[in-house]
Amino acid sequence: MSARWSERQQAMLREMGVTLWLPPAPAEAALPEAATPEPVPAEAPVPSPAPAPAPPPVLMSRPAVVSAAPNPPSAPRPLAARPSGVAAMDWPALREAVAGCEACGLCRSRRNTVFGVGHQQAQWMIIGEAPGEQEDRQGEPFVGKAGQLLDNMLRAVGLTRAEAGPEQQVYIANVLKCRPPLNRNPEPQEVAQCEPFLKRQVELVAPKLILAMGRFAVQSILQTGEPIGRLRGRVHAYHGVPVVVTYHPAYLLRNPADKARSWDDLCLAREVLRGGATPA
Ligand code: URA
Repeated sequence: MSARWSERQQAMLREMGVTLWLPPAPAEAALPEAATPEPVPAEAPVPSPAPAPAPPPVLMSRPAVVSAAPNPPSAPRPLAARPSGVAAMDWPALREAVAGCEACGLCRSRRNTVFGVGHQQAQWMIIGEAPGEQEDRQGEPFVGKAGQLLDNMLRAVGLTRAEAGPEQQVYIANVLKCRPPLNRNPEPQEVAQCEPFLKRQVELVAPKLILAMGRFAVQSILQTGEPIGRLRGRVHAYHGVPVVVTYHPAYLLRNPADKARSWDDLCLAREVLRGGATPA
């Protein structure tokens, strides 16, 4: 496989941790990993405690004794409608709307919303799934181990999340802006509530290409149940923007042999940017 790559490309692969003497990848259809879910443990949604009835008023003829009994569990914060007018918001309004969003139950357990980072006119937009624990703490996408691999992958094709021009600096966002508790799979209604925010981010950035990472992000934005293995290698579209799909960096950390395929995906994405590949 390495014979067809120049020295520069081989250096890029090394940056991504790809071992060049790997045997050629088997046919796509033979990939069991293609159907393997991303590393999101399937957790049952945390049930909300039922609101406790208020204790009846007690008339006392003696001085009250301070009760040692714990307070009854308080009712969960009621949800609110998603802020209106998202489709016409500018960056500050959108950021504020996300920060204050209480349209799904994830607002009850989040530490921070994770809006997105990067160049507001980036040519490349990276879309992941949802914040994990580190992202929830720091309010920035892809800051954990998977984020470090993402940074290496970006570097391999001359991209960065650090400050740079719109050709080099990417914009990174997630389908969900709040962390699902215990990293469980996002619920469909959580995605439905959050999707307008992502759609508006894509409209504002107007990237030349979206790189969708991981089964969940890919299936959400392409509205399909097909596994990644069958979606790779083609150019899709999200609201008119070309989309290339690839594995999630967290998956690649567990399945390093697939980094070579991920490299192919990055090459396809680069080709789209150069005008050499268009949506099917
Ligand atoms: N995984 C994602 O999909 N997004 C993040 O921001 C972090 C981990």
